[in-house]
Amino acid sequence: MSLPYLPLALVLLLCGGALPRAHAAPHPAEALVEEATRALRSHPDEGRQLAERALATLARQPDADLEIRARLLLCDHASERDTALALRQIEAIDAALPRASRPGLRAGALGCRGEMLESAGDNTQAMAYYEQAVSVSEGARDLEMLANSLFQRGYLRGVLGSYATGLADLQRARAEYERLGLAQQALTTLNGIAILYNRMGDYAQARSYYEQTLKAQEASGALREVAVTVHNLGRAHEKLGDWPAARQAFEKALAASREIAYPRGQAHALRGLASVRNAGGDAAGALDLLQQAEALIGGETPEARLKAQILLERGKALQGLRRYAESIQALEEAREVFSRADSLAELASTHDELAQAHAETGDWKTAYAHQVDFKVASDKLLHQQLDQRFATLKVEFDTAAKERQNIALLRENLANEQALEQQRRANQLQVVAISLGSVLALLLAAWAAQQRRTSLRMRALALTDELTGLANRRNVLARLSQLLSAPGAKPCAVLIGDIDHFKPINDRYGHPVGDAILREVAASLSTAVREPVCLGRLGGEEFLVVLPDTGLEAATQVAERLREGIAAIDTSRWFSDRALTMSLGVTVSTPGADTLSTMLKRADEGLYEAKHAGRNRVVARTA
Ligand code: GH3
Ligand code: MG
Ligand code: MG
Repeated sequence: MSLPYLPLALVLLLCGGALPRAHAAPHPAEALVEEATRALRSHPDEGRQLAERALATLARQPDADLEIRARLLLCDHASERDTALALRQIEAIDAALPRASRPGLRAGALGCRGEMLESAGDNTQAMAYYEQAVSVSEGARDLEMLANSLFQRGYLRGVLGSYATGLADLQRARAEYERLGLAQQALTTLNGIAILYNRMGDYAQARSYYEQTLKAQEASGALREVAVTVHNLGRAHEKLGDWPAARQAFEKALAASREIAYPRGQAHALRGLASVRNAGGDAAGALDLLQQAEALIGGETPEARLKAQILLERGKALQGLRRYAESIQALEEAREVFSRADSLAELASTHDELAQAHAETGDWKTAYAHQVDFKVASDKLLHQQLDQRFATLKVEFDTAAKERQNIALLRENLANEQALEQQRRANQLQVVAISLGSVLALLLAAWAAQQRRTSLRMRALALTDELTGLANRRNVLARLSQLLSAPGAKPCAVLIGDIDHFKPINDRYGHPVGDAILREVAASLSTAVREPVCLGRLGGEEFLVVLPDTGLEAATQVAERLREGIAAIDTSRWFSDRALTMSLGVTVSTPGADTLSTMLKRADEGLYEAKHAGRNRVVARTA
C-alpha cells in the first residue's frame, strides 16, 4: 500500500487573498501577485510567470510585503521541482522580512522551508518548521498565515500517523479559511481532511469527502485542484477495490494534469493506472505506464515518495511477469524510502510483495522474514489506525458537541425571540380587542340610549292623547285612581267638561275643523290649570280634570274659570253663526268611600244636569 500524495494545495494556500494595505493607491504589482495566486490554482506555469513579472515591477518600485508574497508563490512552485531555486527564494524572503509591515509573512517562509524538506522526505525537520510557522503566525495574529501553517502541520501530522491532532489542525484551518471567506482554501483543506480519513483506512468516508470537494473544484474551474482530488478519489476507489471507478478517476486525473502541463500529477495518475492494470492481470501494460511515470519525474523533481510508490507498483508488475530478481530490487529500493519516511502502510505492502517474490524464488527464509516484517508493520498500522480513530472520534465528538451547544444556544435565542414576538402580537391583539370592545361598548350604549329614548317615547305615546297632546283617558283615570286609593288620601275633586253641540259643528264645517276646535279647547284648558292638577281627554269632546286636595267650592271655582276660558275662544276663523261653550259637572271625593266609578258617575250626573239646565254652565254634585 502507498499513501496519496500531498496536494500542491500549499501553493494555493500560502498565496491566498491580500490583506488590506496601508496606502490608498494600489501598487502595480499587487494585481499581478493576486493574478498569480489564482493562476497557480489552475495553470502553475502561468502563475510562476506572473509572479516573476510582479518581482520585475517590484524591482523598480519596491514593496517588501508584496515582494515576499510573490517570492512565496515562487518558492512553493519550486519546492517540489527545484530545491535550489526554492532556497534562493527563501534567502531573498529572509532579506526582505525586516522591511515588511506584516510580520506574519515570516510564517510563510518557514512553511516553504518545511515543504522543501517534506518533498525530500525529511518529515522530522519539516515538522519542526511547520511548528515554528504555527507559533509565528499565532504570535503575529495573522489568521491567514495561521490557517496556512495549520494546514501544513495538520497534513504532515496525518502523514506521520497522528491522525487525531492532524484532523484537529485541519479542522481549525478550515474554520479559519471559512471565516476569512477563502472558499478555495477551505475546500483544499476539506480535501486534506479526506486524505486523512484515507490514511486512517476509512476509505468510504474519504471517498465521500473527495467527491464533495471535487464537485466544488470542478465548478470553480480550478484544474490543478481537480487533478489532485480526482487522483485521490482514484486512490480511495483503489483501496476499496472498485477498479472500474479507479480507472475512470485516474484517467481523468491524467487528462487534467496533461492539460495544465503538470508532470508530477501525470506521474501519480500513471502509477494509479498501472495499479489498475496490475489488478487486472496486465503486468506488461502496468510496466509500460510506470516507465512513462518515471520518465516524467526523472531528473529535477525531488519526489522520493512518489518514486518509491512507482517502484512498489513496478515490483508488483515484475512479479506478474515472473521477473523476480528485478522485482526484489525495485521493492528493496522502495522499502528503504518508506522505512525512512516511517510510512507504515506502504512499508507493510512492500514487505508483503517482497515475501511473495522471495517465496517464488524459493528463498523461504527471507520470505518468512518479510512476512514477519509485514505482520509487524501492518499490526502497528492497525493499532495506530485504531488508536487514532478513537482519538479522532473524540475530536469529532468534541467538535460536534460544541456545534450542538451552539445550535442549542441559537435555538434558545430563536425561541426567546419567537416568544417575544408572540407577546408583541398578543399585545397588539389585546389593543385591537380593547379598541373593538370599546367601540362595541359605545355602540351598545348608544343602542341602549336609543332604546331608552324609544321606550320613553312609546310610553309617552301610550299615555298621551294624540290629537290634543293632553293625558289620554287611561292616563288621567290612573291618576285619579291613585289619588283615591292612596293611604291617608285627602278629598280630591273631579270635573268632567263636555263641548256643547259639537256634533253640528262637525257636521256643518267638517271633521278637520272639529279637530282644530278640540285642540283649541285643550290648549285653553291647559293654560287654566297647572301641576299638581291633572288634565286629560276622556274621549270624543269630553275632558276630565282631577284636582288633588281640593274641596267642592274651590273645584267649582276652577270649573267656572275653565268654562269662561272656553267661551272666550275666538272662533271667527271657523264660523260666526254660533258660540263655542262647555258644560261641566263637578264632584269631590269622600276618602275611603269613593271609587273611580262613583266619582265619574257623580260628575257625569252634574254634567247631565248642566246640559239639561241649558248648557254652558257648571253643576256640582256632592256624595
Ligand atoms: P251636546 O250638547 O248634547 O253634547 O250635543 P253634541 O252634539 O255635542 O253631542 P253628541 O254626543 O250628539 O255629539 C258628539 C259628536 O262629537 C259626535 C262626533 O261626531 C263628534 N266627535 C267625537 N269625537 C270626535 C273627534 O275626535 N273629532 C271630531 N271632529 N269630532 C268628534
Ligand atoms: Mg259628548
Ligand atoms: Mg257634546
